[in-house]
Amino acid sequence: MPKKPRASREGQPKKRFLRAVVLVAGTIALETAYMRKRGYAVGLKTVVRCRAGHLFTTIWIPGASLKAVRLGTVRLQYCPVGRHFTSVRPVKEAELTDEVREAAQQHDARIP
Ligand SMILES: [Zn+2]
Repeated sequence: MPKKPRASREGQPKKRFLRAVVLVAGTIALETAYMRKRGYAVGLKTVVRCRAGHLFTTIWIPGASLKAVRLGTVRLQYCPVGRHFTSVRPVKEAELTDEVREAAQQHDARIP
């Protein structure tokens, strides 16, 4: 009985890893496009508003989040203004007035 060529067995995990990378990248791209389309300026300095109306700046990278539970355009995370754990959503680009930016000077922990 002929032995299976080694290459095919070694190629398997790498292929699976690449597929996972493509899947994650695709999800991030899709979510970014979705957020942008809805008028949200997401990125390293995203102005968000919590359920209680507090404004602060956070890092909002679609697909990548260590400190928040994400539910589409809403996230559950700590609000540094009200010092509570609550749901936050990004402020739409159209609503980003100077006043809003000023109010959102407070930045939470600089991890995504
Ligand atoms: Zn708050």
